[in-house]
Amino acid sequence: MNISTATQFFSGDSFLLNRLSDSRPSLEFLASKFSHQNARFVLSLYGSSSLLFSKTSAFPSLFFASHANLSSIGLANNPFLPPAPHGRSSFHPKTPQRTVQEYQSVINPKHQASYVFLGEISHDPSSLKPSPESFYLWAIDLGNLASYSQSELCALASNPEQNQTPESCQTSIETAFDAEFLPFRQGALQLNTTQSQISALARSLIDWNYRNQFCPSCGNKNWSAQGGYKRLCVSGFEQNDNTLSFPENPEFTCPSQKSLNNFAFPRTDPVVIVAITSPCNTKILLARKSIFPKNRYSCIAGFVDAAESIEEAVRREALEETGIKVDQVEYFTSQPWPFPNSLMIGCFARATTTEITIDGNELEDAKWFTAKDVLPAVIKSESETNLQFIKSDHLLSKNTSSDDSLSEILLPPPIAVGFFLTQAWCHRQAELGKL
Ligand SMILES: [Zn+2]
Repeated sequence: MNISTATQFFSGDSFLLNRLSDSRPSLEFLASKFSHQNARFVLSLYGSSSLLFSKTSAFPSLFFASHANLSSIGLANNPFLPPAPHGRSSFHPKTPQRTVQEYQSVINPKHQASYVFLGEISHDPSSLKPSPESFYLWAIDLGNLASYSQSELCALASNPEQNQTPESCQTSIETAFDAEFLPFRQGALQLNTTQSQISALARSLIDWNYRNQFCPSCGNKNWSAQGGYKRLCVSGFEQNDNTLSFPENPEFTCPSQKSLNNFAFPRTDPVVIVAITSPCNTKILLARKSIFPKNRYSCIAGFVDAAESIEEAVRREALEETGIKVDQVEYFTSQPWPFPNSLMIGCFARATTTEITIDGNELEDAKWFTAKDVLPAVIKSESETNLQFIKSDHLLSKNTSSDDSLSEILLPPPIAVGFFLTQAWCHRQAELGKL
């Protein structure tokens, strides 16, 4: 079974969004796509902790704001045009040309708000129907509403007459658009696969920009560039509101400006998740944390450490969490996991030992299961999703588990790599005639 060609949640081969990475260094390009009549905007709050979802769509959907929607909450100005009379004309001529071209002041430092260009899509993002004209997708994070002044809140709420709190302002936006801000996890998991991919990209980039307002080298402010895809340290530059100028003899130059490594890029945290099979490949090792829903088991997982290979991370996590030693490690699939910015690396690994010793910290329980033990849970999870995964219809007839305690085992939802791995192992067992 090969799921690499199947539709996956938060990513996949059917992804219709072109990130246009080659074009995004151009401010003129970004300005034109921001102003384009087919530009659409995903809105979020507090560094993408909540995204705005439609309440009127026929299916669970993000709310894609138009220019008219943005105008109604005072966000119509194109942030990629120079703010006259200052702006880029104030740059010192000695400034490296590359930095001048790539710089843009589209972060509002006070509110930590940001604009991120997601890319071009050939479908109407709301209806997901093919469109003769491309749409250009953006994500706008309004940042921390608690940092807004009263006048700024009133502008966002489109109501200058009434005092606003962050809560009333949020409600006003929701009412105006017949939409609601939902926590990312609550809203995104209900989306179809295409919108889930859009939401994951928006979430990860906004979160990264929100958390990285300061240079990791010197601690000074840094600024967004390339439509939110990297950030530049501005240490040594004279800063005045949203404009920069360059002193002749800066007293301090950030170490990050002395080499080619003068940018910060969006971070991705690799996580290994592994289906460990018994030495004779007749059982699979699944474990549960105390925070899991009752009876849910999944595969062993953990972050890849510094200076560690995927194989080493798999072996270390298996030994640390369950006391099981493994040798062969086989890569299977990967999937973004935007909580906020992980990449799940799914593997199989063959155990050389069978005695389980759980660490007691991360895990509450770990057990060996046969394919027949977990098959009812695989089928149950598949039946509860409309996603276009490869289904196990031919396995239904093999669902002969008679052990009531095992039949109550639950797997992760079918959008998770822990489910893919367990499902794939069942298919492999069937192919081997072991199920
Ligand atoms: Zn710096």
